Amino acid sequence: MYDKSIEEKWQQHWQKVEAYKFVDDRKKPLYVIDTPPPYTNGVLHMGHVSDYSYIDMIARYKRMKGFNVFYPQGWDTMGFPTERTVEKKYGKGLSDAEFIKKCEELSTENLSAMRKQMIRMGYSMDMSHEYITMLKPYTAKVQLSLLLLYEKGLVYRGRHAVYWCPYCKTPIAREETEDKEEKTTLNYINFELADKSGTITIATTRPELLHACVALAVNPNDEKNKGYIGKKVIVPIFNREVEVIGDTDVEIGFGTGAEMICTFGDKKDLMLFHRHKLPEIQAIDEEGKLINAGKYNGLSINEARSAIISDLKQMGLLVKREEILHTVKVHDRCSNPIELLSSTQWFIKTTEFAEQIKKQANEIKWIPEFTKRYLLDWADYIDWDWVISRERRFDTPLPFWYCEDCGEIIPAKEEMLPVDPRVDKPPVEKCPKCGGKVVGAKQTCDVWVDSAITPLVIAGWPNEGYERYFPADLRVNATEIIRTWDFYTIFQTWALTGKIPFKTLFVHGLILAPDNKKMSKSLGNVIGPEELIEKYSADSVRMWAALSGAVGKDRALLFNDVKYAYSFLVKLFNSFEFIFKAIEGFDGSFEKEYLSSFDKYMLSRLNSLIKSVDKHYDEFDFFAAANELINFYWHEFCDYYIEEIKHVVYGKDEKRKRAVQYVLSEAADSMLRMLAPIVPHAAEELYTRLKKKSVHAQEFPKCNEELIDQKAEEEGLSLNEVISAVRKEKTKNGLALNYPLTAITINIPEKYYHLIEQNRADIAEICKVNEVKLGKAEELSVLINFSVEKS
Ligand SMILES: [Zn+2]
Ligand SMILES: [Zn+2]
Repeated sequence: MYDKSIEEKWQQHWQKVEAYKFVDDRKKPLYVIDTPPPYTNGVLHMGHVSDYSYIDMIARYKRMKGFNVFYPQGWDTMGFPTERTVEKKYGKGLSDAEFIKKCEELSTENLSAMRKQMIRMGYSMDMSHEYITMLKPYTAKVQLSLLLLYEKGLVYRGRHAVYWCPYCKTPIAREETEDKEEKTTLNYINFELADKSGTITIATTRPELLHACVALAVNPNDEKNKGYIGKKVIVPIFNREVEVIGDTDVEIGFGTGAEMICTFGDKKDLMLFHRHKLPEIQAIDEEGKLINAGKYNGLSINEARSAIISDLKQMGLLVKREEILHTVKVHDRCSNPIELLSSTQWFIKTTEFAEQIKKQANEIKWIPEFTKRYLLDWADYIDWDWVISRERRFDTPLPFWYCEDCGEIIPAKEEMLPVDPRVDKPPVEKCPKCGGKVVGAKQTCDVWVDSAITPLVIAGWPNEGYERYFPADLRVNATEIIRTWDFYTIFQTWALTGKIPFKTLFVHGLILAPDNKKMSKSLGNVIGPEELIEKYSADSVRMWAALSGAVGKDRALLFNDVKYAYSFLVKLFNSFEFIFKAIEGFDGSFEKEYLSSFDKYMLSRLNSLIKSVDKHYDEFDFFAAANELINFYWHEFCDYYIEEIKHVVYGKDEKRKRAVQYVLSEAADSMLRMLAPIVPHAAEELYTRLKKKSVHAQEFPKCNEELIDQKAEEEGLSLNEVISAVRKEKTKNGLALNYPLTAITINIPEKYYHLIEQNRADIAEICKVNEVKLGKAEELSVLINFSVEKS
């Protein structure tokens, strides 16, 4: 009986003997896997589980194919959610040092819980080669990468428009933003023409930005509004004169067709600001409060919105308000609306390398191929440099100081790494350029700066010999991080080494909640593996992951699939109880001429299956591999073959019995080796009983082409059809399948007559019939000869 307690037994054993510790054996080809370092929030969810299950299946398969697999695991420890948790627990009063210490403690605790989950899933990563982004060796490498990029002229500090989350109080990158449909109010506001000849009505969802209005814009093709172009209007409340400009990017059908343009209103405003060389007015500060707004200064966005609306109403300038559905950009971490503002931050030049990044991406093999499009399209769309600084505390410090007077950047010296310019002394007393005061960068790095160098870090970069492990052979990740993790890794490794980071990128979709929605804490639909492991076992969950498919598309978690996987494992164990008894004492010797049609069919099918499953694994198509293995084993092997040879196993014909024992041993051995990457515990348990050795140290089965016999397969299928027809006939007559009959008549088409006649004795034994009569017919039919029975 299959019992999930065997899983923990094997997990402990593998740990004890360090079964997966990487030893550089130069006789074998190397296979390096760059795995995603999960964020250490304390739990693996089902998305992680499918991700890491695929990686583990590949690692186990590659080992069986003769590769020396280097499969370390990393942990992405730093960033916002951990800070939030620590802030919630300890308040905001901690000093930087105390705060960081608490964050480190929390990350360590979370990491250890997640490591246990990984072990519980049977993953075979090499824990001795683990990397943790908050630890000194890793921080030093991240900082070194920034120093090298700085030397190449790619890092700069400057004032630039950035996306800003007023809630998290930090700049964020565009890929950290999400579009969210929201109900909002569109406000129709009258602007008086400066020459008093009338008014123009504009529509805006952001009246609180009125103080930063630097122009009105209409579409020059808009018959109703084009007459206003070039005219001056007065900004209500603030009484400034601005011009009405014409731009074809203004949407004619939206609102009144006239818009107000603020320097940092949204991405379009910013574009028009540059295009028309409009004046710059900062509207909001980094706390999300109004600036340059006269009496509204210091109000929050929401406060300012109601104050301005009420003032406009009083002045009679608010024409009407209407509710609309509107897409706003929100921060993916906190779901709060983001602002555009101008801020002094640190950047890496990426804009000018879009073509190069595409070229690098084209050198990588993408599985499935279509997922490459996500990256190429993204590269086409980068119009800003990568803002790498974050206003956070628990992150890798930027290894730079700068001159307060002239802005000169002073990089850390390599031997100082890891360094924290927030507290450490600069390498120079004063600015080498102007003698001004040198201050350390206060901000920390975007976490993608940390994880963009994982293929280099696992290879041992920059130490001598790292090229042996770089580029990695494989990276596996979900579609959702192509634009971040993959994009930045491709860019950074190219900028640092001129090479691609990995040869193959295997991309899979997201695991959605059963309601087809993305799992998220805010929706409360996150499902972890614990409950499923507890109920069904880790191997069932792994089989579920394989059956969930491996293509780059999202799919919902179906509990029935886990249950189905579990019932397969139960079937596997039960059938092996029979196999172990059936082959007891078999010494491997048999005579070929004693192989029956049933046996030859099974040997041929088994070898066809090996060939096909091998190919599926090689293409990372776990869905096809798992499906074929289950269907073959459950139905062809258990439902038919085992039932068809039981009478031989329990019979007295030793020569026939040895032939059957040979087939059973071969099938058992190959099946377990083929299943091992997907269900490593179950396969290990059965294989050690079968062969007294570990299945994971075996080669993947090789297909014996000589045993593939099309004719034998066709004949086997025809025999199965006949057996099935007899079974159906018994069922139809309310008889148990093992109910003994005196005689049956099988009517068969001419071309199978000879085959059935040849196997008549076996058919009689299998169907528990004394006498099998044969007749000819166009179509197969079976008759139970009850008349004989009665007489
Ligand atoms: Zn935020
Ligand atoms: Zn200076």
